[in-house]
Amino acid sequence: MLVYNQEELVRFVEEAKQYARYGKVADYIPALGKADPNELSIAIYTPDGRVVDAGDVTVKVTLQSISKIIALALVLIDRGEDEVFHKVGMEPTDYPFHSIAKLEEKPAKPLNPMINAGALVVTSMIQGSSVSERLERLLAFVRRLAGNECISYSDEVARSEFETAFLNRSLCYFLKQHRIIDEDVEELMELYTKQCAIEMTCIDLARIGFVLALDGRDPHSSEPLMPLDVARICKTFMVTCGMYNSSGEFAIKVGIPAKSGVSGGILAAVPGRCGIGVFGPALDDKGNSLTGVKLLERLSKTYSLSIF
Ligand code: GLN
Repeated sequence: MLVYNQEELVRFVEEAKQYARYGKVADYIPALGKADPNELSIAIYTPDGRVVDAGDVTVKVTLQSISKIIALALVLIDRGEDEVFHKVGMEPTDYPFHSIAKLEEKPAKPLNPMINAGALVVTSMIQGSSVSERLERLLAFVRRLAGNECISYSDEVARSEFETAFLNRSLCYFLKQHRIIDEDVEELMELYTKQCAIEMTCIDLARIGFVLALDGRDPHSSEPLMPLDVARICKTFMVTCGMYNSSGEFAIKVGIPAKSGVSGGILAAVPGRCGIGVFGPALDDKGNSLTGVKLLERLSKTYSLSIF
């Protein structure tokens, strides 16, 4: 049984915050550069429906790369494993998330759906007849997972990324040259940047984490929100690739399936036990929340949350 004590959690947050000075907020997306590196919050969604939290959990966080796991789930439901993994691989990488290097090798298929090249391929597979219809389908799925009809995206962050995403455009052109995607690059960039700008609180993140922890079931009604196999694949990628090229170290030190984003958000799923949402915009050099990882490490050690 997990006993999450609010005062203890507040203390862990204060401890982890001490590391904020070693991190840096992402500013390659200009709108994210405004974040306060000293911010740190966490919400834990527990099996009895309780949320234990610390820090300001009303702050909205853009998903950034966390959206990759949700888009993957939707596309796996839409198209099935065979079609998805024909275009994107299953292997982790020690290259940074925005690297183009591996696309120069044969085959040019991206290594996995958690790096940008792979995520762009996944987003290109979201079904619908227009960018807005495809975005609406993704948003509807996110809202069901979070149990929150109010979730939308930040126009400011989406626009800021759209105007500056030259590396991601380069990845798209490589992928298009190799016929892995065939849609218009500007349309794909519009959909991808809006996907990354979907925003929610740590409580919403924690609830989505708990859905994954429950093999895709709604925590209240037990209704399946995604097939068990899809939840299993998502959690596996969270372990092998979810924390970019420090997923191995995270697996050893924390041992919880998790996905981070350069906004400083982390979505974590402790199988059968709880869902966790973290927001700490001070990032390490790999693009993970430095304070968030410290906090999860403390939590995992205190409550033996490692799945290994
Ligand atoms: N939108 C970001 C990008 O594509 C997401 C990257 C991230 O969170 N690692 O650069």
